[in-house]
Amino acid sequence: MHRRITGQLAIATHNPGKLAEMRELLAPHGIEAISAGELGLAEPAETGTTFIANARIKAIAASRAAKLPAFADDSGLVVDALDGAPGIHSARWAGADKDFTAAMARIERLLQERGATTPDKRKAHFVSALCVAWPDGHLEEVEARVDGTLVWPPRGSAGFGYDPAFLPDGHQRTFGEMTSVEKHGLPPLGLGLSHRARAFVKLAEMCLEPA
Ligand code: IMP
Repeated sequence: MHRRITGQLAIATHNPGKLAEMRELLAPHGIEAISAGELGLAEPAETGTTFIANARIKAIAASRAAKLPAFADDSGLVVDALDGAPGIHSARWAGADKDFTAAMARIERLLQERGATTPDKRKAHFVSALCVAWPDGHLEEVEARVDGTLVWPPRGSAGFGYDPAFLPDGHQRTFGEMTSVEKHGLPPLGLGLSHRARAFVKLAEMCLEPA
């Protein structure tokens, strides 16, 4: 039996972009999102080996500290020809100065070394894992993905991270060439294109009152 989220929800992220996105998504459902910063929450070490495990670590730590239900996410890019790398280390590959141009170039170098020059050998997907933890230990979790192909050179300057290198299946433009509305494709405008939108739609079905 899924549990509904009502009232206040702690958002276990220190990323202002993610917080703003969550506030926007949750407001129509009557949920007040409170940031980790406002609650003075520390960032736990992400020691899990899967996206879900890392989302769970962050959500559980935040719900215990805030004494509120808490939401956390973990996401990344999984490249088939690189045995799943960068995966849960997607943020780390960009280094301390968050240089995603360099991270995309590193992926491209490795793909070339492996002879992955045709689209069929350059398959990748983004994954988004979401977890809501309650102070009594109850958990709700979802994971979703969007499949695509890596292009080189990267195209477009919208979005963030690996967006300019990722061409979602069935589309002609990379995530870096799409507006955020096109990339996420959330209802009522769309059915959820990005991994994060797809995961959020699933979580909303399970845990939120209809907007
Ligand atoms: P985390 O979920 O904050 O650990 O970060 C995961 C990393 O994966 C981000 O820093 C990005 O590099 C990458 N990533 C996750 N989602 C996306 C996306 O929608 N577009 C581009 N890169 C993404």
